[in-house]
Amino acid sequence: MPAPQAVPAALPQERRLVTAIPGPKSRELMARKSAAVADGVGTVMPVFAARAGGGVIEDVDGNSLIDFGSGIAVTSVGSSAEAVVRRAAAQLADFTHTCFMVTPYEGYVAVCEELARLTPGGHAKKSALFNSGAEAVENAVKIARVATGRQAVVVFDHGYHGRTNLTMALTAKNMPYKQGFGPFAPEVYRMPLAYPYRWPTGPERCAEEAAAQVTDLIDKQVGAGNVAAIVIEPVLGEGGFIVPAPGFLPRIAAYARAHGIVFVADEIQSGFCRTGRWFACEHEGVVPDLVTTAKGIAGGLPLAAVTGRAELMDAAHTGGLGGTYGGNPVACAAALGAIETMRELDLNARARRIEEVVRDRLGALREACPAIGDLRGRGAMMAVELVRPGTKEPDPRAAAALAASCHAQGLVVLTCGTYGNVLRFLPPLVIGEDLLREGLDILGGALARQ
Ligand SMILES: *Cc1c(COP(=O)(O)O)cnc(C)c1O
Repeated sequence: MPAPQAVPAALPQERRLVTAIPGPKSRELMARKSAAVADGVGTVMPVFAARAGGGVIEDVDGNSLIDFGSGIAVTSVGSSAEAVVRRAAAQLADFTHTCFMVTPYEGYVAVCEELARLTPGGHAKKSALFNSGAEAVENAVKIARVATGRQAVVVFDHGYHGRTNLTMALTAKNMPYKQGFGPFAPEVYRMPLAYPYRWPTGPERCAEEAAAQVTDLIDKQVGAGNVAAIVIEPVLGEGGFIVPAPGFLPRIAAYARAHGIVFVADEIQSGFCRTGRWFACEHEGVVPDLVTTAKGIAGGLPLAAVTGRAELMDAAHTGGLGGTYGGNPVACAAALGAIETMRELDLNARARRIEEVVRDRLGALREACPAIGDLRGRGAMMAVELVRPGTKEPDPRAAAALAASCHAQGLVVLTCGTYGNVLRFLPPLVIGEDLLREGLDILGGALARQ
């Protein structure tokens, strides 16, 4: 079998601007989009993709953009990794679908075996596959409820878990995710998060104080015995790339264990090498009862999973879990190709190297730029939080202006955060170091002009 190649030879790994951004063909397509696609479906950049791979996205006008977004943390192996394309294409030619619940196929089982090997903990594990992250989170809650016979679900400030009815209820941020879309699912309780930069008494005591508040609130307001699951992102994604203060996750996991609560790590954004480990929980030695995955799992094809303790996963009656497309064979083949690529190219090491380069460059910028309130993240999941200089007041306008300036120069960056004031950097883990540095230079220039 040929070694997987992350970067297609036919796609030059360079930034190249041949028109204004967006170019004329993208403008034409945007006009068609406006007429045919619901306005509720927004785009970060009005630029239409033609090809993508490695660290670049080539648009329909022939511009080549540096990708610091990975399609929202999805294409960690690039958008056209050789092993993903080869395995998915072979599967596509064999069959596209039978429905695993009708006549099963090996790829689904092989993905579940990989998930059992790769997720934290040496216990017996099983998995079930779905189509999207939100669907995985919904199913984790179903499993926790049926296994415990309890109903309440505990989530956190700044958390993001999806856009379906239950996951909107689990998600913290109103605009744009929830506004006007209620009523939301009941029995969801939101707790304070150990957010070091914004913790009132400072970062030192943040983990301890936040954990004490959480356990006290659960005891007093919910009753630990009523809680089916605690659902948390080990590094928060849409809520602002917040790394909970060290010690917070282990404390919450220990509390869950002591009270028979299912501890669910939502690793949909942070999993699969993104933070320099297979799963972000590993940074603190936390072993979750259930792990939800999606995004990076399948090199861009839609696939999601719930993986966890076999006795929990087996609590649902036969036929209680599933879905027509869940674990589609082409998506499973792509996942096996993505995992092969992650192993062979040691993408955990690549993510750690990306963190070094980003910290080095942005750390220096931070000294010179008082608008950068915080620089944080793990691995290739890094961000800067922008504030009004001399304060901690969030500055979403600065984030939007910086993003727009980067976009105009051919760098794809995304914003996030409860206050919309965080610029996040999620390059494909296979990006070349020269492109990474060029992207950071563009960002540095934009910050200097702020
Ligand atoms: C993106 C995301 C989801 C939702 O995944 P979809 O595939 O968009 O449904 C859930 N949780 C986290 C942490 C995410 O980043």
